[in-house]
Amino acid sequence: MRKLDTRTIVVASHNAGKIREIADLIGPFGFSAKSAADLNFEEPDETGTTFEENAAIKALASAKASGLPALSDDSGLVIDALDGAPGVYTANWAEREDGSRDFAWAMEKVEKALEEKGTMAREQRTARFVSVLCLAWPDGHTELFRGEVEGHVVWPPRGTQGFGYDPVFQPEGYAETFGEMSAEQKHGWKPGDAQALSHRARAFKLFVETCLDA
Ligand code: IMP
Repeated sequence: MRKLDTRTIVVASHNAGKIREIADLIGPFGFSAKSAADLNFEEPDETGTTFEENAAIKALASAKASGLPALSDDSGLVIDALDGAPGVYTANWAEREDGSRDFAWAMEKVEKALEEKGTMAREQRTARFVSVLCLAWPDGHTELFRGEVEGHVVWPPRGTQGFGYDPVFQPEGYAETFGEMSAEQKHGWKPGDAQALSHRARAFKLFVETCLDA
């Protein structure tokens, strides 16, 4: 396991929602970070078939382009009744023909797919959010961290906070969807806490424990 010996990194993402959440998480550790979007880096093609492969593609592209360590996130919603879909293709499900992303439409697609399967009861709608964070160095070394949070897909969508599919995901043990939670509630973690809530905060906690002498 390689430690991170700098606090100057690139956040290897073009997704505003993820960049905001990663900024919240790294904030208390004194990082100075620009995102791949800020640096006008091209978005690499996500040609992998696993979260790990795609996270590594994104982090390595930013590390090589910047000469700095880069932290990426590949994530998605894995729905049991849909055999794991949309999974690594969660962002693609929101893609319109003109290349823009429409998450209200993507959530409707998920609902329609569940209705077509006849999975209307809550207990048939189990799902998890998965996040794999990859820290890559310019020399090609990578470290991977996976976080998952179990829950249910709900309909209709609830809440206007967060991003992506947050309004249809209710984490196990909570009355609110992620869309109804503040960023602090969704992370459910601050440095030193033993537990985190969101998939991203769970993966980030592993990153801290492994790569930072916090
Ligand atoms: P990718 O990792 O860039 O392939 O995209 C993952 C997609 O999953 C995002 O565009 C979001 O739509 C969705 N996603 C990942 N994490 C979250 C989350 O925390 N809340 C809501 N949607 C998420």
